[in-house]
Amino acid sequence: MKKVKTTPKSIRSYKNLIPDELYGQILDLTKKLKGSRVIFINSTCKGGGVAEILQSEIPLLNDLGINAVWYNIEAEPEFWDVTKSIHNALQGNGRIVITKNMRKVFERFNALNTHDLKRESWDYLYIHDPQPVALPYFLDGEVDNAIWRCHIHVSRVNRQVWEYIKRYLGDYDSCVFSLKEFVPSDIPIKKRFIIPPAIDPLTPKNIKMDKMKARRVLDKMNIDTRRPIISQVSRFDPWKDPVGVIKAFEVAKQKLPDIQLVMAGSLASDDPEGERIYKELKAFSAKAKDIKILKGLSEEQVNALQTVSNVVVQKSIKEGFGLTVAEAMYKETPVIGGNVGGIKLQIIDGKNGFLVDNYMQCGKRMVDLLEDTQLRLGMGRMGKEVASKYFLLPRLIRDELLLFNKFSYSKENLVKSNILF
Ligand code: UDP
Repeated sequence: MKKVKTTPKSIRSYKNLIPDELYGQILDLTKKLKGSRVIFINSTCKGGGVAEILQSEIPLLNDLGINAVWYNIEAEPEFWDVTKSIHNALQGNGRIVITKNMRKVFERFNALNTHDLKRESWDYLYIHDPQPVALPYFLDGEVDNAIWRCHIHVSRVNRQVWEYIKRYLGDYDSCVFSLKEFVPSDIPIKKRFIIPPAIDPLTPKNIKMDKMKARRVLDKMNIDTRRPIISQVSRFDPWKDPVGVIKAFEVAKQKLPDIQLVMAGSLASDDPEGERIYKELKAFSAKAKDIKILKGLSEEQVNALQTVSNVVVQKSIKEGFGLTVAEAMYKETPVIGGNVGGIKLQIIDGKNGFLVDNYMQCGKRMVDLLEDTQLRLGMGRMGKEVASKYFLLPRLIRDELLLFNKFSYSKENLVKSNILF
């Protein structure tokens, strides 16, 4: 396994952004945990939402006096092919079959990655997503306080693959999901927590950027800031429905010929599908008008794009949470999101954004928003309110501390969409 380095952060810097009560709760909940060692394990330190969260959460926990360390598992490409298939199957792809050979690869690399862990000790072993799920199984003897955090949208799993993954869940003490509806009824873990993810308001990606500056950043990227911009920022992944975004854009462009679409994506080291999808989109955009496909944007460039865009889209077909939705809302940019999973937790249709079921609806909502400045501004303001209240990092830290304190499942750490308004 590889230890991930993070940049120090201070909880005090967040004090003015959150209610005093929340700040107080964080300090209180930390009292009993000072000096505890929490080992976080996931599959990548760059690209995708989990890496984004841990980059901020680990240094903040350390600032609070908790000894939090972060490891990435290491494996060969064949392992990442298997784990992407497992990911796709758990998100609902029923055609995937996990073969004997796939199981062998999965088990071999999970077993290999326990070597470093055997020399470690911890108060909590916090394992994220299915890739490293079998680590506790391959550790000899009893594993105390292992927590499995599932970030993916698991409301309709592929049964064969789920049955396989379930074998490894018996070694866990607790599990965490982003939404209550994601918790599988047959999960063999008794303690279940609901903790929606959150964005860090103080990173270069999310810190308030002056619109003039943001326009200058986009100008340098050859994006025409004098014309309306629609954007989607996402890993290049079929679940993010990039083709649907382009179709919706084409519907809207028939009515509003001036508009442009920017699709910015990243490639995560644990996601072998990204490069292929990027190339396909790139080839398509070369023939299309006013569609830009970009990759490898800096945090500042993502910030500028989400700040200047007239409309942000997150047209996912399945979505565990969708940090990009909260990121855009926090910048007061109205969001059109797929009517699924974690996006439904963040957007109340018609209030702080729009939820859509298909590309025709999405294209129509693009037009509604682009034609109505007041609607855009109103939804943007409401989006910022919702993101600030429910989806900023200190709330996540509070919920994680509750979890470490072994609070039993309670309404207190459940954020429900119907209590947003
Ligand atoms: N992201 C980025 N650059 C890109 C594409 C995505 O920095 O080109 C970031 C995005 O801003 C967000 C994260 O990657 O912070 C994606 O998290 P999300 O929860 O939306 O989706 P996931 O990739 O975890 O499915």
